Amino acid sequence: MQDILKNYIDGQWLLSPGGKTFANENPARKGEILNYAQASEPEEITLAVDAASAAFLNWKTFPVEERQRLVGEFLRLLAQAKDELAVAVSKENGKTLTEARAEVDSALLEGGYHQRQISAFAGNAVRNDKCSLAWEDYHPLGVVGIISPWNYPVNVMCRKTLPALLTGNTIVFKPASFTPWSAVMMARLFEKAGFPAGVFNCVTGMGSSVGNALIADSRIKAISFTGSTAVGKKILSAAGANLVRTQLELGGKNAMIVMNDADLDGAVDATVKAGFGCAGQWCTSTSRVLLQRDIAGAYLEKLAERCRAIRIGDPLDSAVDMGPVAGPGQFKTITTAIERAQRDGAQMLCGDAAAQSGGYFIKPTVFTGVTPDMAIFSEEIFGPVLAVCEFDTLPEALDLTNNSVYGLSSAIFTRDLTNAQRYIDAIDTGMAHVNIHSGFKIPEMPFGGWKESGFGLPENSRSGLEFFVNRKAVYWKGI
Ligand code: NAP
Ligand code: MG
Repeated sequence: MQDILKNYIDGQWLLSPGGKTFANENPARKGEILNYAQASEPEEITLAVDAASAAFLNWKTFPVEERQRLVGEFLRLLAQAKDELAVAVSKENGKTLTEARAEVDSALLEGGYHQRQISAFAGNAVRNDKCSLAWEDYHPLGVVGIISPWNYPVNVMCRKTLPALLTGNTIVFKPASFTPWSAVMMARLFEKAGFPAGVFNCVTGMGSSVGNALIADSRIKAISFTGSTAVGKKILSAAGANLVRTQLELGGKNAMIVMNDADLDGAVDATVKAGFGCAGQWCTSTSRVLLQRDIAGAYLEKLAERCRAIRIGDPLDSAVDMGPVAGPGQFKTITTAIERAQRDGAQMLCGDAAAQSGGYFIKPTVFTGVTPDMAIFSEEIFGPVLAVCEFDTLPEALDLTNNSVYGLSSAIFTRDLTNAQRYIDAIDTGMAHVNIHSGFKIPEMPFGGWKESGFGLPENSRSGLEFFVNRKAVYWKGI
């Protein structure tokens, strides 16, 4: 029997009294169980919130330098654990080892940014003739609930947790059920870094059970969630009932526009990277490609050749470019969407489910002749599948791009500055890229979506810290 991953509550490693567990399967080798996680009960969320509430009374009084020191220690341990953590992520999620290492690097880069930025994170003092001084004070909120998805189990969790801790909040963290192993490994790093008991708590279990219990607990002061739009809407309505603030990073259907003056090789590179990296399972991946009609043929020829060269297999093998999708549910959703696109009349340029039956593998798949009425144009698939449309003019391409309930990220490839500026002005997405793929990000810039792709303050940048504080306007007059 493999290990059972324990919950981390109030500084203790606990087995769930209910004794229910679920298997963590390696998606590259169907039936290989990596370990078991606990299907915890709502009562364990209550215990974790009890611990986080008690710990908050002390943690909020810690000088910011001390919080910075502890987060710095966590980051040092994270860097040290990079290879071990990357293997766990690769095994439980299916992304390649290179992609998993890059994810840890991204968590380190963003964590370091927030750790430095907190020093400068203070309101401006203003002199005024009616009072001597006025300034803005920031206060932590209290216990914060963090719910993360399986596709970037390290990076997304750190992007929420570290700013929350730096600003003086305590945490109850519920990881995705596909990736409990890396979550528990990170909980161990928080313990090892020396955070006081109860400041960081981790409870595994089903979203419908412990996730629900977390958002329903009236002592939670904020929820930071990354996941699907459907679950995000449920969280928003539950949180709204208690006036709890939410930061929701949700789904996407990101488009890349390729103009006829673009560097075609650069555009194809970007499509391969953003379309098929992590088997297309990242929120800012490219899933729609809009081609100006006169270069469509040349572009698609290059793209098909690159797709056929992508080596699929065990993500731990360094010769492999693309691993499996994350599990049976993902495999079913993606293959169903592929079948639907074929029925709807889109043409498959390359792709389909891969021949290897040992794991949940899907070949890089490209559909051409896609029209806006097809499901593949509008629905998020979250897999290595691209929908390609052709257009004649830039306004047409912008209309196609904005024709979506989502508004997370987008990109344009062009050498023409006027095209680029018109795109930046007109696009309805939280991230806009000119000659850079749709998944590119740096910690100094806000990371969040418009429309049904996001709600509340974005992560990263200054707003990544701002989400986790209450403001107090202080007016001061000497006696
Ligand atoms: P998901 O099904 O919405 O799950 C996300 C998290 O919510 C998981 O931890 C899940 O737990 C939990 N959950 C499910 N039902 C819940 C409920 N009723 N109450 C509270 N929590 C609940 O999403 P996913 O499949 O893990 O991730 C893929 C989605 O995430 C895609 O739509 C993708 O676009 C989006 N995403 C967005 C961003 C962004 O920054 N915008 C980044 C990454 C991913 P279980 O695992 O136990 O179900
Ligand atoms: Mg798994």
